[in-house]
Amino acid sequence: MIHHERLRPPSHDYPADEWNIIEKGFHPEFLAQLETMLAVGNGYLGMRGCPEEGGPNAENGTFINGFYETRPIVYGEEAYGFAKTGQTIVNVTDSKIIKLFVDDEPFWLPNAHCVRYDRRLNMQSGTLDREILWETPAGKQVLITSRRLVSFVHRHVAAISYRVTLLNAEAPVVIASEMVANVPSTRANGDDPRQASVFAGSVLHHRAGYGKDCRIVLCHATEKSRLTLTCATDHVLETACSHTYKAVHTEDFGQIAFTIMARPGCPIHLTKYMVYHTSPTASSEELCDRAEWTLDRVMHQGFPQLLTAQAQYMDDFWRRSDVRVKDIREDRVQRTTVEIQQAIRFNLFHILQAAARAEDTGVPAKGLTGQAYEGHYFWDTEIYLLPFLMYTCPRIARNLLTFRYKMLTQAREYARQLGHRGAMFPWRTISGAEASAYYAAGTAQYHINADIMYALRKYVQATGDELFLEDYGAEMLVETARLWLDLGFYSHSKGGKFCINAVTGPDEYNTVVNNNAYTNLMARENLRYAAQTVESLRATAPEAYNALVHKTALEPSEVGSWTRAAESMYVPYDEKLRIIPQDDNFLDREPWDFQNTPRHHYPLLLFYHPLNIYRKQVIKQADVVLAMFLLGSTFSPEAKQRNFEFYDPLTTGDSSLSSCIEAIIAAQIGNMEKAFRYGMAALLMDLADVGGNVKDGCHIASMGGTWMMLTYGFGGMRDDDGTLSFWPRRAPEDNAILRFPLTYRGQILEVEIGLQTVEYALREGECVVIRHETEEIQLTREHPLAVRPVSKK
Ligand code: BGC
Repeated sequence: MIHHERLRPPSHDYPADEWNIIEKGFHPEFLAQLETMLAVGNGYLGMRGCPEEGGPNAENGTFINGFYETRPIVYGEEAYGFAKTGQTIVNVTDSKIIKLFVDDEPFWLPNAHCVRYDRRLNMQSGTLDREILWETPAGKQVLITSRRLVSFVHRHVAAISYRVTLLNAEAPVVIASEMVANVPSTRANGDDPRQASVFAGSVLHHRAGYGKDCRIVLCHATEKSRLTLTCATDHVLETACSHTYKAVHTEDFGQIAFTIMARPGCPIHLTKYMVYHTSPTASSEELCDRAEWTLDRVMHQGFPQLLTAQAQYMDDFWRRSDVRVKDIREDRVQRTTVEIQQAIRFNLFHILQAAARAEDTGVPAKGLTGQAYEGHYFWDTEIYLLPFLMYTCPRIARNLLTFRYKMLTQAREYARQLGHRGAMFPWRTISGAEASAYYAAGTAQYHINADIMYALRKYVQATGDELFLEDYGAEMLVETARLWLDLGFYSHSKGGKFCINAVTGPDEYNTVVNNNAYTNLMARENLRYAAQTVESLRATAPEAYNALVHKTALEPSEVGSWTRAAESMYVPYDEKLRIIPQDDNFLDREPWDFQNTPRHHYPLLLFYHPLNIYRKQVIKQADVVLAMFLLGSTFSPEAKQRNFEFYDPLTTGDSSLSSCIEAIIAAQIGNMEKAFRYGMAALLMDLADVGGNVKDGCHIASMGGTWMMLTYGFGGMRDDDGTLSFWPRRAPEDNAILRFPLTYRGQILEVEIGLQTVEYALREGECVVIRHETEEIQLTREHPLAVRPVSKK
C-alpha cells in the first residue's frame, strides 16, 4: 500500500530532458532538495549542489567517504555489550566558494535580478552546469557561466570553470575564491532519528596551512578518530582585462581575491582546482605534499582535459549501464517516455556518484549527498546496490566486497563481545565497529551477515571471479556460518527444527522477534553456500582449502553441522492462510488501524512510540516479500501471489527500500497495476521527493532498487539459482520497450524486451550462455543474436 502518494515533483518541476536535471529559475523554497539532487561526487568526494557564491545554503556539505569523527554514545540506561562509540561523517572543508562582486555589488541569488537562470546536472558530461544573466542594480548585464565537476578519473580532484563577461558596460569586478573549514551546521539535533548528530564546536583541528601564489593548502585532523585531511586549491585566471590578486589564509580560511577591470565583451575565466587527500596514518606534511603533487599534475593537464576524461568515463558508464525505455503509454503512468528516461538516468547516475571511487570504504546510505544516517554503511550496499554494480561495473562491486573482508577481524571481535562464535558484521558502521545506538532496530539485524554472503554468491556467479571466493569469500563464509550455528538452536517445541530467536528482520517495525522468516531463509542460504564452498575447495583447490583451514582453524565436522542446520531450518508457515508469517508472533499481533491514521502521520516512526508500533501488525518495509524476490526460485508463483496479497496492505513503505521490491514481486505475479504504481514510487523517490526527506540526501538503496525493478521486475530477469535467465511477460495493455545491457562473466550482453519478441544480443565478448525461460541459449561471436517470442501474462 502506498500511503503518501507524492508522485509528481514539487511545483518548480524539472523540464523533461533525457540527459539533464534542469532548474529553471532560483527557487529558495526548494534549496535543500536541490542541494541533494544536484550534488556531484565520485564515491570518495561529494559536494552538495550549493551555489558557487557560498550561499544561500540550506545545509551546505562537502563529504569524504569514510572521513568521520567519533563521540561516545550516551544511553539513559547502559547494558552490557551496547555499542559505545558513535561515528559521524564530517562536513569537511568547503572549497567550492567563488564570490563575485561587480561595482562592489555582491552577486547574491536571493536578491539578484536574473534575466536568465539555468542550472543543470548534466548526466552525460558528469558536470553541474550553470548559466545566469545577471542585471546589476546599475543596469550592467553580467553573464556568469560555470561548470563544476568531481572527477571520476582523478579520485582526489574537483574543479570549477567559472566565466564572467560584462555584456554592456565596464566595471571593476572582484572574484574571491574561498575555502572554509568547520562550516557551522545550520541544523539542530532534532527529533528525526535518521538525521546525523551535530557536533558541538569545531571538528577539524588545524595542523598546517600555507599559500604560494594562487595556491592555498590547509591541513586539519579530527581529534578522536585521528584522521587527517588536506584540502588544497589553486587557480588560473585568463582574461585580456587588466587584473591583480591578493591571497590570505588563516587556520580555517583561505582566499584568493582577483580584482579585474572588466571591459564589455571581454571574458574573464577563472579555473579553480580543488584537491582532497585524507589518511589515518600519513603525517600532515606528507598529505600536504600529496595534495600539491595532485594539483601540479591536473593543472598541467588543464580543465579541458579533466572534462574530456570525465565525458569518456561517462560514455563508458552509460554503454555498460544505460537502461532505456520507449513508448510507455502516457495515460498509464502519467509521465512521458522522456521523463521516465530522465528519472532512470538520474537514479543510475547518483549510484555512480555514490560508489564509483569508493575504494576501501563502503557506500553511505545517502551516498555523499547528505549527512543523514551519519554517513553509515548498511546492508543497503549488498542487497540494493551490488546487483547493479556487479552487472555493470564489477570492479566496483569487488572493491565493496573486499572492504567487507577487511572488516572481518573486527567482525570476529564483535561476535565475541556478543557472546558468539564466528563473525558478526555491524549493522551500521564507517570504521568497521558497530555504531548502532539502538540495538532493537540495529544490532539485532543479524541478517546483515547473510545479506553480505548472498551478495558474495551473486557476485561470484555474475562475474565468475572464483579467485575472490578462494582468497576472501570462503573465509567470510566460514565465519558467518559459524555465527548462525551458534545463534540458532534445535528447538523441541518446533519439532527439532533449527530456530533463530531474538533477531530483527528487515522490517524495523517488528523488532527482536523469534524466527523472522527472512532471516531464517537467508541464514539457510548462507549455511548452504558455506558448506558447498568449503567442500568444493577441498575437492578442487587443496592449497586454497589448506590456507582456509589455517586461517580459520576449521574442523572437518563443522561443515556437516552447517548443512544439518540449513536442512533443518525452521521456516514459519500458516496452514490456514497458506502464507509465511513474518515471524512466530506476527499473526497474533493486533491489526494497525490504517483507516484512522492520518496521511501526514507517515512515516509512523516519527509519530508513534516504538512499542505502539511493535505490538501491531504493521510493516515498515518489504520483509517476506523481499525474501520472495531474493530467493525467488524457492517460492511457487501461487505462494508469491498469496504472500504479496497478504503483506501488501500491511506495508507502509515508510522505508524507501520497500517500493522497488514490491514492484518486482507485483510484476512477477502479473499485478501490473501495482507494479507500475510501486515502480513509479521507486523511480521518483528522490525526483518527486516521495518520502519528503530528499533534503537530507539521496536514497541510494532505492536507486539501486530502481535498477532491479526494471531488470528483475519488468525485464523478468532471474539469477538466484545460479544461472542468468529471463522470463519476460507482457501484459496486454503494456506498451513499453525496455532495453538494458549486462556485464556477465566479462562479456556484454544486451536484452531488449519488445512488444512481441525479446532479443538477446552479445555486444562484446566471445560467448555467453543464458536462458530464455527454460531454454538454454548460447550467444557467440558467430551467432550473437537470439530472438524469442514474449509470453503474455
Ligand atoms: C531502513 C533500513 C536501511 C536504512 C538506511 C532504514 O530506514 O529501515 O533497512 O538500511 O534506512 O537506508
